[in-house]
Amino acid sequence: MTADEPLDGQEDQDEAAYRSTHERDQKLNVFESVRVQSANPVEPVKLGPGDSFRFRCHRGVSCWNTCCHGADLTLPPYDILRLSRHFGLRPAEFLERYTVPAEHEDARMPIVKLKMGGDDGGGACPFLAEEGCTVYADRPAACRYYPLGLISVKLKDSEAKEDFNFLVREDHCRGHEEAQTQTVAEFCKEQGVEPYEQINRGWIDILMKLASWRPAGGFMGKNPSPQARQMFFMVSTDVDRLRTFVFESRFLQVYAIPEEALELVRTSDEALIRLGLDWMKNVLFNEPTLEMREDVLQGAIARARSETGGA
Ligand code: SF4
Ligand code: SF4
Repeated sequence: MTADEPLDGQEDQDEAAYRSTHERDQKLNVFESVRVQSANPVEPVKLGPGDSFRFRCHRGVSCWNTCCHGADLTLPPYDILRLSRHFGLRPAEFLERYTVPAEHEDARMPIVKLKMGGDDGGGACPFLAEEGCTVYADRPAACRYYPLGLISVKLKDSEAKEDFNFLVREDHCRGHEEAQTQTVAEFCKEQGVEPYEQINRGWIDILMKLASWRPAGGFMGKNPSPQARQMFFMVSTDVDRLRTFVFESRFLQVYAIPEEALELVRTSDEALIRLGLDWMKNVLFNEPTLEMREDVLQGAIARARSETGGA
């Protein structure tokens, strides 16, 4: 029932050696210059939470809403959830109306982007009206961060990741000329990015790990199967399909999910997305993010032994 075999004893044995020779330092632009239209808009200055920058966006700026045209806006799982709820739509309907399918360039995984207006996608965001953003309370994470970009860095041989921001300075954006200064932490708090960071983190981690293994031909030399890609897309975009999958497939016969957690997953879309992303980490990278039922585990070990000629 899994997208890829979730347990592979031989890979476990070889992983450390393989990792040390193949895994690369990796930098993933999480929200890279989103809504950016100029050629080299990024000021290559690393900003920490306590660093200040000068910026203010308000209705009185001469460039009001310029940046909401032709935006290259990837939607992570929590963004899709919030926007679907905003319109009272099921995720599938939201995806159909407002997004286009795409592929994450570094990780080579299916994602969705917000469908901009115009034949070439250079027109206005579908949520833009004369008065401004009509989904402001539920606007995507990338819109909240702007004019900050977010980069996540993972060094080779280290599981720890470091996130930092940088300033996106586009010629048309007059907000940089305003007198107001604030720290990165103050700006992020005001923009309400925290729940987005919490829930989208697992999704970012998966893309980053896939991107870091790409030069080696995929994780442990294997690219995700078409089925794994489909499952990743389901987890990333559609809580309805994911919930049906969890409760109506063999999922719960394979994984031992504590009853309390299961109850939460029944009622909370956020908890469901977290479970789905943990499952993906297990499927794609054999990470011990979910516990397998003992009988399934023993069966997988026996299968791995017989396939490798072990006792
Ligand atoms: S969601 Fe709102 S802020 Fe983001 S691009 Fe669209 S109109 Fe602009
Ligand atoms: S100041 Fe910058 S962020 Fe605000 S509307 Fe103008 S271009 Fe967009």
